[in-house]
Amino acid sequence: MAEKKKFQAIKGTRDLLPPETELWNRVEQTAREVFGTFGFGEIRPPIFEKTRLFERAVGSETDIVSKEMFNWVDDPDLSGAITKIRAEMRNTKTLPAVDGTAARAMLEKQARMGAFNNLAERVRVALRPEVTASVCRAYIEHEMHALPQPVKLYYTGPMFRRERPQKGRYRQFYQIGAEVLEMVPPNQDPAKNIEKDAAVDAEVIEMVMAFFARLGLEGVKLEINSIGDRECRPKYVELLRAELMKVKDKLGPDSQRRIETNPLRVLDSKLESEQTIIAGLPKIADHLCANCAGQYAEVKRQLGMRGVVFEENWRLVRGLDYYMRTTFEITARGLGSQNAVCGGGRYDGLVELLGGPPTKGIGFAIGEDRLILSLQEAGKGGVAQGRDVFVAWMGEKAQATAIAAAQKLRAAGFRVELPPVEQKFGKALGQADKLGARYALILGDDEIATGQWTVKTLADGSQTKMSEAEFLEMLRKSL
Ligand code: ATP
Ligand code: MG
Repeated sequence: MAEKKKFQAIKGTRDLLPPETELWNRVEQTAREVFGTFGFGEIRPPIFEKTRLFERAVGSETDIVSKEMFNWVDDPDLSGAITKIRAEMRNTKTLPAVDGTAARAMLEKQARMGAFNNLAERVRVALRPEVTASVCRAYIEHEMHALPQPVKLYYTGPMFRRERPQKGRYRQFYQIGAEVLEMVPPNQDPAKNIEKDAAVDAEVIEMVMAFFARLGLEGVKLEINSIGDRECRPKYVELLRAELMKVKDKLGPDSQRRIETNPLRVLDSKLESEQTIIAGLPKIADHLCANCAGQYAEVKRQLGMRGVVFEENWRLVRGLDYYMRTTFEITARGLGSQNAVCGGGRYDGLVELLGGPPTKGIGFAIGEDRLILSLQEAGKGGVAQGRDVFVAWMGEKAQATAIAAAQKLRAAGFRVELPPVEQKFGKALGQADKLGARYALILGDDEIATGQWTVKTLADGSQTKMSEAEFLEMLRKSL
């Protein structure tokens, strides 16, 4: 007989199974509780959006958008895209002279490749690589600027990036994140309110730290930095670029490329040979404008007031284009080189970039997979939840009683295993043991006749008779 090929989960994706999922649930439940105490409400955006949203929000130059997104043209027969391409070609008088199937094949190919980006835009969609873009899109779409400001939202769920899978790095991974969005009232100079922004930044960071503390995460280290704003950052980036040009020959190919595309990312380099060179580069803290320097100082003061311990790291830059001023990253123990469990920062102006009103924003994203890994490394993993009661029944009359008992016990919140068919008591007790049940409820002819149930405590093997009410009472007390 030909062997059937077994299916396996796609590389970079994985199944989360019990008992590990107990831990996932506990982590998410804790996030809901802690974030709730800070006044955050949950948002659940779709997991796919127009590709263009991510291109615009995250930035086309980033690794995420340029090579890691799962996107496709969502137009099954490509008819929408083709019609648009054809109309455009007619307009620009570039419609091919050939007609019929050859022309159709050519148009199809172009539509499928997502060429004519602006034309196929309506149908170019991507699995989300992150959620901030979606939250901002939703803020605009639902006119949340009309709500009391700021709007505080959190989310949990899967993200998708086509990365090289390794420990702590997957193609489908999970994030828990939060965003604070606040429309800037007309006539208000966004540069004003430095103190207020700093307090918001500090509270958001305080919230993540409170969440990690509640989970008992170990070896938590918070690093902060300011990466300036539209006024001072471009000047600093130019200075950095000029300095990098001078040492270009000593840098690796990745950094050499980044001198052109994104010089800030050079500071991120983990390459051993580049470390001394980077240490000698100009530091952004020395080039912040007055507003940014003022806000950065106030963030540090505010963190101090909240008892949040931090370290400054001038080389901390975020991979996404839209961040400004406050940026932070949190690392934890037990994760090897993928030890960042949370990244965040301020992104004033992103909502506006997406077509909304002038709006300030600050948020973070926690890598839940890594958070879980770190908790497991520290021995704080999930434990299999055993059953409270295993109902061992024999005989037709007993089945009806067993079903009724299971219904009552489950309604009272106890975990009950009810075998679908009758079993010899010896076998039933063996199974109860394997499932880690606390009690076996034994129901046979005798028990049905007398209304006195036999209850076996599996830990010590002791056995007693009692009424249904007494059993329920005992369970409530003992569990
Ligand atoms: P890294 O430098 O580790 O690639 P990043 O800068 O790409 O992180 P963000 O986009 O800021 O990360 O996402 C926030 C958090 O999400 C990260 O700190 C990390 O914990 C987690 N994360 C990012 N990419 C992955 C992935 N492929 N697999 C698992 N977790 C991830
Ligand atoms: Mg990354």
